[in-house]
Amino acid sequence: MAKRGNSIIKGVEIEEVIRLLNKAYADEWLAYYQYFIESKVVKGIMKDAAIAELDQHATDELRHANMVADRILQLGGTPLLHPQDWFTHTNCGYEEPKDFDVVAILEDSIKGEQCAISTYSEIADIVKDKDIVTYDIVSEILADEVEHEEDLQALHDDISEFVESIKNSCRA
Ligand code: FE
Ligand code: FE
Ligand code: MG
Repeated sequence: MAKRGNSIIKGVEIEEVIRLLNKAYADEWLAYYQYFIESKVVKGIMKDAAIAELDQHATDELRHANMVADRILQLGGTPLLHPQDWFTHTNCGYEEPKDFDVVAILEDSIKGEQCAISTYSEIADIVKDKDIVTYDIVSEILADEVEHEEDLQALHDDISEFVESIKNSCRA
């Protein structure tokens, strides 16, 4: 493929789009691993429902990493080659689970999704009406991240309510 590194698509520098996509790429791998390991260590009430959700999200984040890597390559860039680079490029960072309780795990993941939503919203704003292919990919991922956040929040609320009702029935 021809090197298009210094080209511009309707006022957006391709190098800048590649840089933003590589940062999102780092986020996706870290999000994938966070869900992967959370699903392994999570404990507590209704943990099976949480495991199903965490596993599904891990699969989605890996698919996002694929989509972003393919777009970086199409633009003539190179996806980050070393896992160490994930930590120097990430927007959202990596939070290892410290408290394995299902409610704490869900809260960590909700924070991660909120960061992913703001990252993809920013990229979408920058490439809108300029790099339409990237815009479409980023919008599709953004819709998934919004759904992730909603699913986790709903599960978090269900489990919290259930825990609360058990506490109340013990007191009665
Ligand atoms: Fe993602
Ligand atoms: Fe997500
Ligand atoms: Mg889900």
